Amino acid sequence: MAGKDRGRYALGVDFGGTKVLAAVVDLHSGKVLGTGKKKTKPDDGPDELMERIYGTADQAIAAAALEKKEVIGGIGVGIAGQVDAERGVLRGAPNLSQATVDLPMAALLTERYGVPAALRNDVQIAAMGEAAFGAGKGAPDFVCVFVGTGVGGALVRNGELVPGAAGTAGEIGHLTIAADGRLCGCGGRGHLEAYASRTAITKALLGELRRGRTSVLSDMLAEIKENEPGGAALRSGILAKAVAAGDELVVETITDAARYLGLGLSSAINLISPTRIILGGGVIEAVDLLFDFAAARAKRESLPVPGAAVAIVRAGLGDNSGVVGAAILGARAAGA
Ligand SMILES: [Zn+2]
Repeated sequence: MAGKDRGRYALGVDFGGTKVLAAVVDLHSGKVLGTGKKKTKPDDGPDELMERIYGTADQAIAAAALEKKEVIGGIGVGIAGQVDAERGVLRGAPNLSQATVDLPMAALLTERYGVPAALRNDVQIAAMGEAAFGAGKGAPDFVCVFVGTGVGGALVRNGELVPGAAGTAGEIGHLTIAADGRLCGCGGRGHLEAYASRTAITKALLGELRRGRTSVLSDMLAEIKENEPGGAALRSGILAKAVAAGDELVVETITDAARYLGLGLSSAINLISPTRIILGGGVIEAVDLLFDFAAARAKRESLPVPGAAVAIVRAGLGDNSGVVGAAILGARAAGA
């Protein structure tokens, strides 16, 4: 086919803690042409996990209604798990599918769709999307922080991810913000994720209810089983509604989470002195209070010079940073 459009269109898949989202993306503009979406289930096995990806990918391709000459050049997947990027293998994703170990995801996608495929950690992928077409555009150095089921982060320099020696640089969710503090999902103590994630906010609310406090969410919280696989947590939209309704306990709990998030951000500011900090993810998108408090606290707690130099902004692509970043990865896998 004609050379000009090769690699222009790619498919991006964002496999997160609560849903899988796929999109066909025009990489000249960053525009999303068609999407597909399904909920994820933590008791899925590897076959069901792949079926979910195929289902959303097929939906996105159908919705994009590309013309015959506009082919998809490659497929990228961002996934909340441990990834062997070089081999295109999902090594494990305890929050998505406990039964899935060493799944050759890229090879399976290539077999089904006949194009190159690649995968990577979901937060790094979302940062790639923000760097190319979102709030990171034109910023030489930035830090991406996504607050959802967990707290993920990535560092970008000159539009490229900074991997660090182990490929894990930017794990802001595991900064220690309280000595000997709450137990984190990673086994450490006092990490930011144990205070500011949606899971942490839910746990804190459950604790307060046990102490006899009440909330508009009392009934909903009563149905949540703590410590179930995948980590039980209230949805961001539900938290947002409780805040809008002025629920005292929810407002207090989120304000508390925001204070800790601000501390984590100020540590990042002092260490790296980035041009921008981009905050995204479900809870940030849904709850203004969290962004506003965390940004103010981060500015106040950081050293004056780097604190004045950093802009703390929201993710520019909203829910789409992951699929757009994944599509960029897919196009790169295709050599575009
Ligand atoms: Zn941790």
